[in-house]
Amino acid sequence: MRAGEEVAQAIAAGADVLHVDIMDGHFVPNLSLGPGFVSSARAFTDHPLDVHIMVTDPAYFAEKFAEAGADSVTFHIEAADKPREIVSFLHDRGLGAGVSLRPGTPAEALEPVIEQVDMVLVMTVEPGYGGQAFMDDQLPKIRAVRSALGRGRRLEVDGGINPETARRCAAAGADVFVAGVDIFRGGDIGGAVAALRAGAAAGAAERQ
Ligand code: ZN
Repeated sequence: MRAGEEVAQAIAAGADVLHVDIMDGHFVPNLSLGPGFVSSARAFTDHPLDVHIMVTDPAYFAEKFAEAGADSVTFHIEAADKPREIVSFLHDRGLGAGVSLRPGTPAEALEPVIEQVDMVLVMTVEPGYGGQAFMDDQLPKIRAVRSALGRGRRLEVDGGINPETARRCAAAGADVFVAGVDIFRGGDIGGAVAALRAGAAAGAAERQ
């Protein structure tokens, strides 16, 4: 009921990107927002909108969220029959294209699209619900994905991210940190964004 107000606070605090989780009740058991929310967010702010589609039909929804005003769409490799076509579709529309891995999916699954994508999202919890604990066993995969991506492209982590887990992910090579509960449930959005940034910066320094 207060989404606009909280989004404005997160932007004011220095969040670089608004990440919107879309769940279809099939690929994951939960059901969440749809293209209408993204259209509303687009009308509300010019800030970058990264839409993470946890859905069984990513080709269909990539188009719907491109139309709704997303700047980038990140889809799951496990759900995509023709991932290269989805990436090409997004690029032809001028959008960024990301591909995501569930915790049980190995880095090798990225092979068909690794040369094409702008970003890889490594899920650090099983997708579907907020507020889960970070999975340490994803850290080796983050290192493997970073080495496959090289330095120029983005590696995003999503699930159980707080200043301490952001530090560990950054040390392994992540450079985009998605946080929901950690930012919005503590009562101090500005302080939480600053703490997350500090954690990520400490991890990046460890990696140098
Ligand atoms: Zn997400």
